[in-house]
Amino acid sequence: MAIIPDKKSWIWVLDRTCPECGFTASEIAYEDIPQLLLDNAEGWQSVLERPDAAERPNESTWSPLEYAAHVRDLCNVYRMRLLLMVDTDGAEFADWDQDATAVAERYGEQDPARVAADLLDEAEATADAFAAVELQDRSRRGLRSDGSTFTVESLARYFMHDAAHHLWDVRLR
Ligand SMILES: [Zn+2]
Repeated sequence: MAIIPDKKSWIWVLDRTCPECGFTASEIAYEDIPQLLLDNAEGWQSVLERPDAAERPNESTWSPLEYAAHVRDLCNVYRMRLLLMVDTDGAEFADWDQDATAVAERYGEQDPARVAADLLDEAEATADAFAAVELQDRSRRGLRSDGSTFTVESLARYFMHDAAHHLWDVRLR
């Protein structure tokens, strides 16, 4: 069985505690997000050192390596979205098909050490980008093609949940 694409909108995580990973986006201070992201990237380092990092727990769930590659790319995608909306209030985001990307980029065959290093670089660049937004620009808006509207603040919280949730996905059970 292949990976089943996650087509759900996760926009509700901005208002409620995630019942799976326990992240409460609404309680996160914007100022804390850069450090939270760096801590998250640190967390992936040991995950990627696991000898079985490339093994899927079952056929329909990504391996830790695939999740890590996804989070690396998430950092990049959200940084680009952030820069776009800071540049143009009300900017529309280009669609990003995360599942197609995972297949096209062969996430499961990437080198874990390389993914670990690149994830750290991407997270640092994205943390810096969020930290650099001036207070008056945090209400700038960006639109997703499904009609969801984000501000810089809600985009940061939404993204941070995503990264945190995936680290939860690969926790040792
Ligand atoms: Zn969650």
